[in-house]
Amino acid sequence: MTGLTAAERKVLDWIAGERAAIIGLIETLVNTDSGSLDKAGVDAAGAHIRTFLHQRGIASDVVPNARYGDGIRATVAGSGVGTILLMGHRDTVYTRGEAARRPFRVAGGRGSGPGCCDMKAGLAMNALVLAAFAQFGAPGPLVGLFTADEEIGSPSSKALIEQEARRARAVFNAEPGRPNGGVVTGRKGGVFMRLDVTGKAAHAGNDRADGVSAIEEIARKVVELHRLTDRERGVTYNVGTIAGGEVVNMVAPSAAAALDFRYIHPADRGAGMAEIERIVAHSHLPGARAKLEITGEFKPLVAGEESKRLYALYAACARDLGQDVREEFAGGCADSGFAASVGAPTICGVGPIGGRAHSPDEYLEVDTVIPRAQALALSVMRLG
Ligand SMILES: [Zn+2]
Repeated sequence: MTGLTAAERKVLDWIAGERAAIIGLIETLVNTDSGSLDKAGVDAAGAHIRTFLHQRGIASDVVPNARYGDGIRATVAGSGVGTILLMGHRDTVYTRGEAARRPFRVAGGRGSGPGCCDMKAGLAMNALVLAAFAQFGAPGPLVGLFTADEEIGSPSSKALIEQEARRARAVFNAEPGRPNGGVVTGRKGGVFMRLDVTGKAAHAGNDRADGVSAIEEIARKVVELHRLTDRERGVTYNVGTIAGGEVVNMVAPSAAAALDFRYIHPADRGAGMAEIERIVAHSHLPGARAKLEITGEFKPLVAGEESKRLYALYAACARDLGQDVREEFAGGCADSGFAASVGAPTICGVGPIGGRAHSPDEYLEVDTVIPRAQALALSVMRLG
């Protein structure tokens, strides 16, 4: 550690002393199932965070939601204009029972368990940094958002994130740090859609000519959609699921597919959607009909000048702590895109380092939890 003031050292040392408490919170959170559609589970994970914050004198309020988990907003008062926003999502991609099958474990410096790096460690890190400033005084008003449903496109959290980002002068999203220490300054935008095709049922032997195969129609559309991909421009189309038909000897009356469309440049969204709509509207088979529904959407994280300055500040802080940080672009979408899209200086992937998210091999580099918390805390102090 170089070039630190005594006041900075005091905060960073305090954070280092909380290692056991924070690993304990990560363990509790990983062992609490919180799939996006499991409201009770996402709320239970939220209750653990609120208890941790409450014990450290931090007020938090609940933004209720009937369908998804409630939003949780914690505040640490400080003087100054504009808040500093620390964000993270409590939901995971796993259904109930996963935590019991694979509880949090640490072996060889690596933690494992559902959502360990994506992003329960990031939530715990944010809670710890809020606690540090509740203890020593915040350089400006701090807001911690612990949201409910990022893994399904944040249908309930998007508005809350945008609202808090509008009054923020800096936003840090604690998605996992990249395996090489990278912090994410750019992300793709993504539109998730459901395509439904209707045909006409008929006996496959007796009345084949009367039928309209929804399976054939959707298959042709899938080929056309995939062909739109332009890798050089970062525009991709992927049909991730497909289903259709009733039985082998019936012409399929219906079929459905889920489509994932991603882009880098905001202007490519309109052009890409127009192409998709053209393909959906054109029937290859007379009598087939198709309809498209957007089921979720993320804005791209585009690094503007202010976000670049925020990254530079973070990187300088990390370097002063002897950490190697680099800037990365990610094809994955995240809530940081919503914050950046309302103009807030935003960086993402500042959470503890891990990898292989959304798989049984997901891991957390346990020894990065405290250093990443310190880099974040130092950045917050120097923003003050
Ligand atoms: Zn995540």
